Amino acid sequence: MSELLWVLVGTPAYSQMARPLTYISESRLAPGTLVRVPLGRRELLGVVWDAPAEGGLELNGEDLAPEKLRCVSAVLDAIPPLTPGWRQLLAFTASYYQRSLGEVALAALPPQLRELNAVQLARRLKRYTKACATQSAPTRAAASPSPTLSAQQSSVMAQFAAATTPCLLFGATGSGKTEIYLQSVEQLLAKDAQGQAMVLVPEINLTPQLEARFESRFSALYGRDAVVSLHSGMTPAQRLKSWLAAHSGSARIVLGTRMAIFASMPWLKLIVVDEEHDPSYKSGEGARYSARDLAVYRARLDGARVLLGSATPSLESWHRSRPASEGGRYLRLHMPARVGPAGKASDQPGRLPAVRMVDMNHQPKGCLISPPVLEAIIARVQRGEQSMVFLNQRGYAPVLLCADCDWKSACPHCSAYRVFHKSDRTLRCHHCGYADPVPRACPACGSPELSGAGRGTERLAEHLAELLSGVRRPDSVSDQWPLGEPVRIARIDADSTRLKGQLGSQLARVHSGEVDVLVGTQMIAKGHDFRGITLVAAVNPDQALFSSDFRAPERLFSLLLQAAGRSGRDADIGTRSEMWLQSHQPRHPLFEFLKQHDFAGFAGQQLNQRAQAGLPPFSFQALVRAEARSQQQAQGFLDAARAGAASMQHAQEFAAGINLYPAVPMSMPRVANVERAQMLIESVSRTALQRFLSSWQAVLHQTRGQEAGNGLLRWAIDVDPLAI
Ligand code: ADP
Ligand code: ZN
Ligand code: ZN
Repeated sequence: MSELLWVLVGTPAYSQMARPLTYISESRLAPGTLVRVPLGRRELLGVVWDAPAEGGLELNGEDLAPEKLRCVSAVLDAIPPLTPGWRQLLAFTASYYQRSLGEVALAALPPQLRELNAVQLARRLKRYTKACATQSAPTRAAASPSPTLSAQQSSVMAQFAAATTPCLLFGATGSGKTEIYLQSVEQLLAKDAQGQAMVLVPEINLTPQLEARFESRFSALYGRDAVVSLHSGMTPAQRLKSWLAAHSGSARIVLGTRMAIFASMPWLKLIVVDEEHDPSYKSGEGARYSARDLAVYRARLDGARVLLGSATPSLESWHRSRPASEGGRYLRLHMPARVGPAGKASDQPGRLPAVRMVDMNHQPKGCLISPPVLEAIIARVQRGEQSMVFLNQRGYAPVLLCADCDWKSACPHCSAYRVFHKSDRTLRCHHCGYADPVPRACPACGSPELSGAGRGTERLAEHLAELLSGVRRPDSVSDQWPLGEPVRIARIDADSTRLKGQLGSQLARVHSGEVDVLVGTQMIAKGHDFRGITLVAAVNPDQALFSSDFRAPERLFSLLLQAAGRSGRDADIGTRSEMWLQSHQPRHPLFEFLKQHDFAGFAGQQLNQRAQAGLPPFSFQALVRAEARSQQQAQGFLDAARAGAASMQHAQEFAAGINLYPAVPMSMPRVANVERAQMLIESVSRTALQRFLSSWQAVLHQTRGQEAGNGLLRWAIDVDPLAI
């Protein structure tokens, strides 16, 4: 007796084969079962899916004749079926972010699962089961004990336990948010013998620190397998192993980056999203999903609790956590004070760093590090404390100039300059990667007078070394050795950490106190728990003040407040911690709020402006981006699709609620010889926007068909875009 089945396979982006395909199986298989199926001449991983609601048959390629239906080639029944909740999460993701379900669902499974055949997979599973069985039994004694919570933390724990809505934990840097995550997980695991928790963090380079904290707390209690990680820095084999542990329930805690939101966790009861404001929760390729937004959706679906945490919440989450009486749907939990003096969970709050402005209009012209900032750094060095200086530009200088003609180091493939890197004497494009050696003479006029304009971290580190060359480390100054040791400067950015392990070893040097001054990009400003730093300086925060992106002030404020949070984390020396800002706009309102550490004031002001301008979170947006050989082609495609919207069904109804703006070049119009344009779609109603996009997809496909010979390369929809 054979059964008809619907099977979802990985289909290309925007495939017209959006629905599951029909196959025959000898036995009835539950939806969620993993199978291998033939498609064309290949054999693919598939997921048995729920029958399509409209009952339409979409047959597996070849022919529509029922006698040509093909059979499932293998059933991977060693793995329990994926739950209805998981399938619904993926179905929602595909539909909300306007991608094909097959693409989204299959991409959410570990890559190795797609590659292994049934026999290989069975062998792999056997090996894991054996490894688990030989593990030593957990012992309570070895677990590191959890500290006594401060009054502020206890109150937050109680409110979270009683909450029935998503919660936003608004806690200052160093207020003990991570401890709240740990203890919430601890309570869940203690009261629910199967319960699972997911903890998301924005960056892979922050996972090792968090992993260590979770492992030391939980591995001894629940076994070594109880805490697993999921992020793109892992090998395919490691990812499969973690995924299987989460799916089987043997892993109780999954720590991961945004991709972990799709982990199969049948007993999921708690989702934590740390640094929920971080833009890296939003995917920049494929389905451009927001893991933070999906966390809230998934929690509701699975009946799990959700806790979003940040010292600088996204304005979206901030707005959603306004008082319920004003329409807020999240509960805001507040921890304004830092954890008190080390060890003691004192309710005397540790102090937040004082913010000091340097008016660059009154400093020597062109100086990189102003005299007051230099003085403050020297004072730190002499006390044996650490400083952190950050600048959002890597390399030596953002552009190389000829003094005799107007040649600049433009990238031949992009609308950008190539950056001058002094260490390996190259000009490198940070957008397409194009690099070649620095020319000896100007390629245009032959003049040897080439010099870097502006500054990057490389130059900053070099310059600081010169400025500090006369200063000595305190512990090395003695009568016998009066010269002492020079100041140690380290640089951390994408260039200095390109090789595997480099970041870890450089961070270790900072943590051990070996480094006196740390120079870097925003990589060092986020999340790290540096204990010895008492000074943070932002060399040039002004750039972002004049950006055309309406989210630029939000990002700058959050970056600066997070960076300030790296200072004075050790309460014993924290009382004299400072953040210095060098600016030509020292009285800009953004800096005024920053001086007071007044996130709420800043958020209120920004939200007022956004409400007046009808910007998110007071409206909903999507972007369509198109790439082509010329701007004209890219914009032509978008404008044609826009015109096509007028003849769609319900066009009038859509026209009333949806704003389609004309196509414009992207802010960086050309990258790697591809011209890029975008079109903004806006509505005050999320539902209206969703309905419009699902109908309009067909128009986009059709327009693409007509324009195909016309140099159009790609198009993609971005729902809730972060960068406009
Ligand atoms: P956040 O995540 O808000 O930046 P953390 O949770 O990392 O803050 O806490 C900052 C520091 O304070 C950490 O070193 C942590 O171990 C310590 N800490 C947090 N809560 C307590 C507590 N109740 N008692 C003692 N130390 C604590
Ligand atoms: Zn020249
Ligand atoms: Zn380039």
